[in-house]
Amino acid sequence: MGRADTPPVLVVGGPTGAGKSGLALRICDTWGGEIISADSVQVYRRLDIGSAKPSRSDRERTPHHLLDFLPLDGDYDAGQFAADARLRISAIRARGAIPVVVGGTGLYLRALLHGLADAPPRDDDLRGALQSRVAAEGAPRLHAELAGVDPTYASRIHPNDGVRVVRALEVYQLTGRPLSAWHAVQVAPPPLAATLLCLDPPRDELYGRIDARVRQMMDAGWVDEVRAILADGFGRDLKSLGTLGYRHLVAHLCDGIALDETVRLIARDHRRFAKRQLTWFRGQPDVRWFTNADAAMATIAEMMETQMNPLEPARLRNLRAYEPGKPIEELRRERALVGPIHKLASNENPLGPSPKAIAAARQALPEAHLYPDGGAFALRTRLAAHLGVPAQDIVVGNGSDELMDILIRAVATPSHHAVISRHGFLPFALSLTSAGVPFSRVPMRAPLTHDLPAMAAAVKPHTRLVFVVNPNNPTGTHIGRDALEAFLRTLADRPDPPVVVLDEAYFEFADAPDYPNSLDYREVYPRLCTFRTFSKIYGLAAFRVGYVVTTPEIAGLMHRVRKPFNVGRVAQAAACAALDDTDFLARTLTLNAAERTRVAAEMAEMGLETLPSQTNFLLVRTPRPGREIYDALLNHGVIVRPVDGYELPDCVRVSIGLPAQNDAMLGALRCVLEAA
Ligand code: PMP
Repeated sequence: MGRADTPPVLVVGGPTGAGKSGLALRICDTWGGEIISADSVQVYRRLDIGSAKPSRSDRERTPHHLLDFLPLDGDYDAGQFAADARLRISAIRARGAIPVVVGGTGLYLRALLHGLADAPPRDDDLRGALQSRVAAEGAPRLHAELAGVDPTYASRIHPNDGVRVVRALEVYQLTGRPLSAWHAVQVAPPPLAATLLCLDPPRDELYGRIDARVRQMMDAGWVDEVRAILADGFGRDLKSLGTLGYRHLVAHLCDGIALDETVRLIARDHRRFAKRQLTWFRGQPDVRWFTNADAAMATIAEMMETQMNPLEPARLRNLRAYEPGKPIEELRRERALVGPIHKLASNENPLGPSPKAIAAARQALPEAHLYPDGGAFALRTRLAAHLGVPAQDIVVGNGSDELMDILIRAVATPSHHAVISRHGFLPFALSLTSAGVPFSRVPMRAPLTHDLPAMAAAVKPHTRLVFVVNPNNPTGTHIGRDALEAFLRTLADRPDPPVVVLDEAYFEFADAPDYPNSLDYREVYPRLCTFRTFSKIYGLAAFRVGYVVTTPEIAGLMHRVRKPFNVGRVAQAAACAALDDTDFLARTLTLNAAERTRVAAEMAEMGLETLPSQTNFLLVRTPRPGREIYDALLNHGVIVRPVDGYELPDCVRVSIGLPAQNDAMLGALRCVLEAA
C-alpha cells in the first residue's frame, strides 16, 4: 500500500466540552501523532484544572506541544502561536508523525490556518510603558484616548479590556495607522493544508457535559488552585486570570461572591462560550462535522487508508531497516561466486571465537533444554570482578544492540528528547525512532569525531539521553579524557542531568594515551551507562552478548523492562570463558594493530585517505561514491561496508582482517579504482 509523502495536518475543533482532546488522543494512538494545543488558557503554567489541561499520563502517552509554558504574567498572542505551531508542525512531520492541532481558541486557529491581519510586531518598550499607564491610570482612561484615534476599534472592545487597548495604542503609535485599518487588509493565507474536523454533539448532551465538567473541576480543587495563585501575589488584572472561570473564581475569593452562584455563572458562561465557538467554527470553510468521536474516527480511517498502510504507525514511516554487513552466504547466492569470499564488513574478529569460549560453549550444550539463568548470575559476577564494579550495576543483553532498546524504554518517553551525533552509530537513532523519542543529531567536528561541547549545548531541559560512541563506529575516531571529563562536568551541573551512554564496543582495541575508560567517571557523573560487547575482540558476535555498567537505579529499571531469558545459556557460558582468555585477546590486539597500520599505509599509497582509528576497522574516503566501490568489490569476493546511510556517501568502512584477507581486499580495491 502506498504511503503519504508528508503526514497530513489534522485540526480538531469544536466547542468546549465536546470531547476534542479525547478524539485527538485516539487519533494519535491509532495513527501515530503529536498534539499541538491551540488553547489560549492552556498556554499558562498553573492554570491546570480550569483549563482542562491533559493529564500527566496523557502527556506521557502522546507528546503535547504549546501548553503549560507561559508564566501567569506572560504575554502571548495568536501571531506568536501561529509561528510556534508552524515550527512544531514541521518538526512533527519530519519525525513522520501526524500533527494534530486541538483547541477551541478560534483566533489561534485562524492565525495558523489563514494568517493574521497584517500588523506590526510588538514593541516591548512601548508596550511596557502603556501597560504601566494602564496600571496607574486604569484601562478606561487609555480606552478614551484610543477612541480619539481609532473609534472603530475602540467601539468593538470593552473599556476595561486593558490588553486590547494597549495593543491598539501600540500599533497606532508605532505606525500612525489605526489597528482597525490594519485589520481591514488580510494577508494572503499561507499554504497550510489542514483537515479541519469539528465535533458538534447534540446541544443537550453538550450542555450536560459542560455542567458535569465544571463540577469535576470544582471537585478536583479548582478553588484551591486559584487561591494559591492569588496567595503568591498575582492579581486579577492579569490577562491569565481574566480568562473563563478563573475570573469567576477570583471574584468568589476576592469579592465574596457565593460559591454556588460562582459555579452557576461558570457553567452558564461556558455554555455561552460554547455557542460562540460553534458560530465561529460554522463560519470556517471546509469543516467536516461529526456528532461524536466514533464517527470522526471512522472518517479519518477512510482518509488515512487512501494515504498510508493502516498498520504502519506514523513514527515508523521514515524508518529504514538497518543495513547490516552483507552475509557471505547471501553474496555467494546473489552473484554465483565460486572463489573465496572475504567479509570485512561487520568488524568481527578474524581469528574466530576465543578457543576457551568454544570449549565452554561445547560443555554447556547438553544443558540446552534448560532455560538459562535469566539474571546471568555467573556472568555478571565474573564481569564485576573483571571490571571492579558491583554486580548489581551490570545488566547483560542479547548483544549491546538489545540493551539500547531496553535502556530507551526504561528511562525515556515520547515527551523526552535525546541527543546523538550525526555520524554516530546508527542503531541508536533507529531505537529512538521506534520508541517514538524525538532526538537531535549534532554535527561532528574534524576529523569526524563527536563534538561534545555542541552535544552538551543541544541538551534541553527534557533531554533524557545522550549517546556518545567512543571510539565511534563507523568513523573509528575517539574522544580524549579531557573532552569527556569537561562534557560530563557540564552536564552534571544541570538540574535534571540526562542519562549519558558511552558505547565502548571497541574499548579493548583503543590504545591512544588519552583514550578514557568511562568506568573511571562513575563518580563524576552518576547517570552514566557504559555499553560493551563480546561481539568484537572476544569473537563472539554470533552468541549475542553485550553488557551495560550503570547505577543500581538505572540497572533496576532496565531489569524491569528486559525479558527474563534474553541471553542464552550457551552464550553466557562462552562469554564467561572468553573473559579469561587473555592470550586470545593479546593475539587479536597484536594482529589488529600491525594490520591496521599496514592497510592504512597501503591505502595512502593508493592515494586513499583513512581516518585515525582506535578500532578494528578503517573509514576510507573514496574518489567515487562509496556504494559504487562497495558494489564493485563484491564481484571480487570482498565485502566491505557502504556508509551512505551514515551520511558519508564518499566513504566505505573496511574491517581489519587476517593478512591474506587484507591483501585480497587491497588487491581488489586497486583493480576497482584502476577500472574507473
Ligand atoms: N555499538 C557499536 C558502536 C557497534 O559497532 C556495535 C556492533 N557493530 C554494537 C554497539 C552492537 O554490538 P552487539 O553485537 O553487542 O549488539
